[in-house]
Amino acid sequence: MSDQNNPFPETEAAPRPATDIPDSELAKEISKASDEDLHGDPDDPSPQPSPGEATSISAWRVAKSLLTLRSQVNSLAPSRLKKSDGTIGDPSHQSRASDHNPWVKDGTAGVVTAMDITHDPDHGCSAEAIANAITQARDSRVKYIIWNRKIASSSAVGGAPAWGWRNYSGRNGHTHHIHVSVKPEKATYDSETAWNLPPSLTA
Ligand SMILES: [Zn+2]
Repeated sequence: MSDQNNPFPETEAAPRPATDIPDSELAKEISKASDEDLHGDPDDPSPQPSPGEATSISAWRVAKSLLTLRSQVNSLAPSRLKKSDGTIGDPSHQSRASDHNPWVKDGTAGVVTAMDITHDPDHGCSAEAIANAITQARDSRVKYIIWNRKIASSSAVGGAPAWGWRNYSGRNGHTHHIHVSVKPEKATYDSETAWNLPPSLTA
């Protein structure tokens, strides 16, 4: 997809040095020592992010599809709180298997293929509304989403059909944010096509 298709152009797509992790991009919800949860899909038997892959990169960036999603959400809820927002895992977690780690290689850069968006219904950003919009649209860029102790994958996993909700038993119940993972193929994760979101993200 070209930028011409993206009504929400972003400037954060350029790779950053591996040591440059701004707080706005840090995935805060995986780094709580007492509540560690890498936001993976425990039921998915297919190959998972490779532990250690992310530690050898010199630069990282966020998948463009997720930057497009965040930009749209920001436009729909400009005053939303972002306290549980984040993309990249902190360095102490980068040897672990998580889409929050830049394990997908694009040239010399690692690409983060997961994003957390804060649930803030008081300021027009309901994670429930985002979850419903993504599952109803069946957006083919998505690998899985986690929200409110449930996980839904774009493929049939764990006995549930594609897009069916399963119980999520991770230690972080994902009640303060929604997690979105996109697939590891470049044409998919860097697609900047606008997401099919409703005019309002209130639940
Ligand atoms: Zn997450």
